[in-house]
Amino acid sequence: MTPDFDLQGHNTLGLPARARFGATISQANELAPLLSEAAALGLPFRVLGGGSNVVLRPRFDGVIGLMAIAGRELLGQHGEHMLVRVGAGENWHQLVEWTIEHNLPGLENLAGIPGTLGAAPIQNIGAYGCELVERFHALVALDTDDNTLKTFTRDDCDFSYRQSVFKRTPGRFIVVSVTLALPKAWRPNLGYPGLNTLAADADAKTIMQTVVAVRNRKLPDWRQLGNAGSFFHNPIVDASVADRLAAEHPEAPRYPGADGRVKLSAAWLIERCGFKGHRHGAAGVSDQHALVVVNHGGATQQQISDLAGEIVSAVEARFGVHLVQEPELL
Ligand SMILES: Cc1cc2nc3c(=O)[nH]c(=O)nc-3n(C[C@H](O)[C@H](O)[C@H](O)COP(=O)(O)OP(=O)(O)OC[C@H]3O[C@@H](n4cnc5c(N)ncnc54)[C@H](O)[C@@H]3O)c2cc1C
Repeated sequence: MTPDFDLQGHNTLGLPARARFGATISQANELAPLLSEAAALGLPFRVLGGGSNVVLRPRFDGVIGLMAIAGRELLGQHGEHMLVRVGAGENWHQLVEWTIEHNLPGLENLAGIPGTLGAAPIQNIGAYGCELVERFHALVALDTDDNTLKTFTRDDCDFSYRQSVFKRTPGRFIVVSVTLALPKAWRPNLGYPGLNTLAADADAKTIMQTVVAVRNRKLPDWRQLGNAGSFFHNPIVDASVADRLAAEHPEAPRYPGADGRVKLSAAWLIERCGFKGHRHGAAGVSDQHALVVVNHGGATQQQISDLAGEIVSAVEARFGVHLVQEPELL
């Protein structure tokens, strides 16, 4: 373990942060000894992938494991699907490209999402009309309660919108591999705005390239302007709340959710409160996309969190809707 481990280069917001100790995890069997070492020192252990969905505090008084387990393996057919097992440290977008190069379509709508395979199930990543759950078969994770490896089926993961059993129990499970199920009878999924101008028989590579191009137009590049993507979940509210909003603002976007509930656009609510392009010291809201909180250079976690708090209070006061932060404060 490396003491006083620098994490500034390991979070896409680019926040200055250090951990008491850090270590790179290249194989699953390195985890149990590392956890024992942390426990012997009385320190908490957390894993980090690409750091694209976290807001890091200046100091983590514990051990950070950087997930770097590699490996991509085509397991073969399973009913209507082809199964691909991937190490938790593999880069998500590179995996999407690899599957398409190997004529295994199905992940193209999820192209361009930063981060690692191991983190993808944590919040059931989703974009452009597709969620991980639709392409998920199983995963293997270390249960830190008893240091054993466990297999989770799709049902075990209890996925929903940006949620899973892993997100609800932060730090308990460390994902070491993910098995994806890619459909043998693939059909393009072009329903989402930005993709519906493509030809009905567009191939997966074209869809992937279009998704990446649209994302590049809409979102600031975190390498140039630190950010963690969408900073808040789209709120899912009772129909009565959505109806009240629609009566006052008929133009407010709304999407049908489960159980008669309605999903609202967090970006619309934030923009209406005047935050698009707003700055709070070195922290700010992107002038490209109101849902993206950015680091203009030298921002601290406190400034980012203060700005997030300002946004939550303003949206609550104006619309009576509570926004939930997406990246974990770690
Ligand atoms: C520009 C940008 C665009 C984005 N667009 C999208 C999008 O379209 N859709 C979307 O869903 N998300 C999006 N995100 C969020 C983010 O990319 C995803 O949530 C991604 O899956 C996070 O991966 P990571 O490896 O960076 O996770 P990290 O940020 O390193 O970790 C996130 C959480 O997962 C935990 N974790 C990480 N690895 C493991 C593991 N192996 N086992 C157990 N827990 C683990 C961490 O402890 C932490 O709680 C975007 C982010 C950015 C910066």
